[in-house]
Amino acid sequence: MHWCKVCCCSWPLCCGPSAEQCSGKKNPHTIFFILSIRPTARYPNAPELDPVAVINPEILWASGMIEKDWEGCLSVPGIRGRVPRPTAIRVRYLDLDGRQVERDFSVFAARVFLHEYNHLEGKAWLDHVEDNRDIVSEREYLRLIAGC
Ligand SMILES: [Zn+2]
Repeated sequence: MHWCKVCCCSWPLCCGPSAEQCSGKKNPHTIFFILSIRPTARYPNAPELDPVAVINPEILWASGMIEKDWEGCLSVPGIRGRVPRPTAIRVRYLDLDGRQVERDFSVFAARVFLHEYNHLEGKAWLDHVEDNRDIVSEREYLRLIAGC
């Protein structure tokens, strides 16, 4: 099992760890992450989402409405960036009991879900930044959200 701790600290309010494991011949690659969201000083308007195990996720649908917002990650330490993401998604995954779940996520939760999903694909938020001017240092980011 390979644990990828990319997000447990970078999204301090929420998700992680992202993880990957192998599980037998029939389904040799089981991938999952734990999604959990809490408001923090950096993301005071974040919704509350109790921890959810998201196993072998698929994106079934994504809204055509795109919004740019800040993301950060331990896989890219010390910087933040404005990343365009769909404002709503419908996903399918297995829960811890092996039941298939279809669920909608919107705005912040959709962003976090897609951030984690991208890690399972071997990508990070930097792969989705459209313009270098959307990247700032962590210090600059904290200054921006404080309104200074
Ligand atoms: Zn991450």
